[in-house]
Amino acid sequence: MNGYSADLAQVCGCKWAATGSSADEVVSKTKVHAKQTHQMNEVPAEIAQKLQAAIRPAM
Ligand SMILES: [Zn+2]
Repeated sequence: MNGYSADLAQVCGCKWAATGSSADEVVSKTKVHAKQTHQMNEVPAEIAQKLQAAIRPAM
């Protein structure tokens, strides 16, 4: 399956990888994670930047 993943260890320090069929899906799943786990109603720009850098194609 082709898709994307982001290792959140590089983003928020969590031992969890967000995965999705598109980069947008990875971003939206990470936003849900940030809200539920870190009570971030809005993802700070710094975290969003780290997330963009962490997104990789998953083979
Ligand atoms: Zn986290």
